[in-house]
Amino acid sequence: MQPDNVAEFRFYAELNDFLSPEQRQQTMRYRFSGHPGIKDPIEALGVPHTEVALIVVNGQPVTFSYQLQAGDYVSVYPFFTTLDSAALPQLRDQISSDPRFILDVNLGKLAKFMRLLGFDSLYRNNLHDADIVKIAVNEQRIVLTRDRRLLHAKQIQHGYWVRAVDVDSQIEEVIRRFDLCHLIHPFARCLVCNGMLTPVDKTAILDQLEPKTKRYFQTFRQCVNCQRIYWEGSHLENMRRRFAGVLTP
Ligand SMILES: [Zn+2]
Repeated sequence: MQPDNVAEFRFYAELNDFLSPEQRQQTMRYRFSGHPGIKDPIEALGVPHTEVALIVVNGQPVTFSYQLQAGDYVSVYPFFTTLDSAALPQLRDQISSDPRFILDVNLGKLAKFMRLLGFDSLYRNNLHDADIVKIAVNEQRIVLTRDRRLLHAKQIQHGYWVRAVDVDSQIEEVIRRFDLCHLIHPFARCLVCNGMLTPVDKTAILDQLEPKTKRYFQTFRQCVNCQRIYWEGSHLENMRRRFAGVLTP
């Protein structure tokens, strides 16, 4: 049976990234039967639910519990950091003030940079999609992925499709999208295993240091998990320079 109802959809700003070129910046007609939940047509048109911040139907903001009606005009908006959404219906729980992330298998470099900036960023290169979804739900982690299909998983509350390919732009995207600027704590986390770093006395680790490191550095940190040793050297300076644009709000 042919679907007999029609609604119209318009997607705004970077949500157009998910549409085919001929659909971008256009009002689209969507045919349907019955009264599907509003999330279904949005995802059927290609936009993962995690990318949507605001849905307006016939001029009224709605939540994901809204059921589509014949003749509806639906406007769908992405996240804007400047949007004051406090008065609008919330589509999902708020992100915690200490956000945690899980990164898809192809984002190993980004995971390292996120850790460098102090963000709890779980990454293993052997995780399957189902593992990522499960961990994200159990540990309330935000999913970062280059695979937009993964974000269609219903159980995922918070996620982001990383657009850029190079890691500098990727980190910039993530910091802006989740407004992380004020949460950056360089050298708080192990780049290799995501464990927390804790101050350690130089005398306690003297035998593990290279002669030059021993001579030039006084302040050290150690991973509570894998015991790796870190010190604030040129690494930190390079990073500050590299991300100067992003790190200053
Ligand atoms: Zn470690």
